[in-house]
Amino acid sequence: MLRRDGIGMTSPRTRRRLVGRLRAHGIRNRAVLEAMEKTPRHLFVDEALAHKSYEDIALPIGRGQTISQPFMVALMSERLLNGGAVKKALEIGTGCGYQTAVLAQLCNWVYTIERIDELQLRAKKLLFQLGYRNISYLSADGAGGWASNKPFDGILVTAAPREVPAALLAQLAPGGRMVIPVGGADEQELRVITRASGGSGYEERRREAVRFVPMLRGRAR
Ligand code: SAH
Repeated sequence: MLRRDGIGMTSPRTRRRLVGRLRAHGIRNRAVLEAMEKTPRHLFVDEALAHKSYEDIALPIGRGQTISQPFMVALMSERLLNGGAVKKALEIGTGCGYQTAVLAQLCNWVYTIERIDELQLRAKKLLFQLGYRNISYLSADGAGGWASNKPFDGILVTAAPREVPAALLAQLAPGGRMVIPVGGADEQELRVITRASGGSGYEERRREAVRFVPMLRGRAR
């Protein structure tokens, strides 16, 4: 049985408190705050960690990967939406599917790519149980994007490459926006890249220092 609502440390009240902290840290977008309030983060982590799931910290999800810190999920989602409505979104790095769940509430359709099959299968199962029916999954190296479904109004990347992958830039719709951490293991920055509405040219803003797991090449075995 899925304990969607949770009790004690995983209750809706605890979740509201988290959203209060996000607001206090400057997250303003109401749709984002609402989505974060509705998403049962405790179900995306191992049961043994559930009591920590509404603290604003990253947590391990197995295979050396992490579920992003809630503030980072909120910030990236807000930055993505600030460019205008996102109908079709592409996410690189499904992980446990938490960011995917938030995006699925903010966009019409989410395409999500993960290189570790085991993580994506688990995420897919949970997101289905939670009722999300607007997500497509691909098990692949996300650096290549998902050409057969391009272009995307929004691209959100949750693992850091050293350089912005050219395929992702190419698959961004005119007027579309990408939020992506870029850099090496100990120095990364969050970039917001907007494609000109005519299609030619990109505007890039370099924002805060961040820390994400590295974007790795190829599918994991
Ligand atoms: N959004 C996720 C964050 C997971 S961490 C969450 O909230 O849980 C980043 C994820 O990116 C990891 O699962 C990792 O396996 C994946 N990843 C790393 N490099 C990748 C690549 N080249 N293609 C697809 N996924 C990748």
